[in-house]
Amino acid sequence: MGYPCKVCSSPNKAEYEKMYLQDHKNARQIWQYIVTDKKEDMSYQGVARHFQKHVAPILDKRRKDDETRNIVLAKCLEDDVNIAKKIRDHFIIIEGEISKLAKQDISDPETANLMMNWMNQARMTIEQLLKHKERLLPKQEKFEDFSDDLLAMVEDFPPEYLSVFTERLNKYLMSKKDVI
Ligand SMILES: [Zn+2]
Repeated sequence: MGYPCKVCSSPNKAEYEKMYLQDHKNARQIWQYIVTDKKEDMSYQGVARHFQKHVAPILDKRRKDDETRNIVLAKCLEDDVNIAKKIRDHFIIIEGEISKLAKQDISDPETANLMMNWMNQARMTIEQLLKHKERLLPKQEKFEDFSDDLLAMVEDFPPEYLSVFTERLNKYLMSKKDVI
């Protein structure tokens, strides 16, 4: 093996590497600084070799780590989008059940019960979707957009159901506003 690396054994190693990594000075500029300002006895080749052999591999590793992180992030985002799709599919099923029930005799207690049940499911699904959207998107989402869709969906419902539903939805939206 050759001589031990003078930059590695210098007490100013961190400073020289900061010049390279953060200030983007090249090996020649740093070598000039080392010999003129710091008065350390080093050859240009020695300094260049340090940055090539002892610093570049660290940069390489850092770049590979970044790539890995990006792949993981992309995968997480894909999962998030898939979850959002599943919640949306679930909501469409609930929507179908509600409109089926809306055509039936709503004065029948069993039908009425089922209806309330599905409306509750719809509310929970919307909550899930909103929570999920918060995770995916920046804070300034307009929750009212969602409630408009939902109210349009139930607009032909008997007034007593509609008022209960609207009340619950408003309560939910108010609680969301407090958070934002
Ligand atoms: Zn070195």
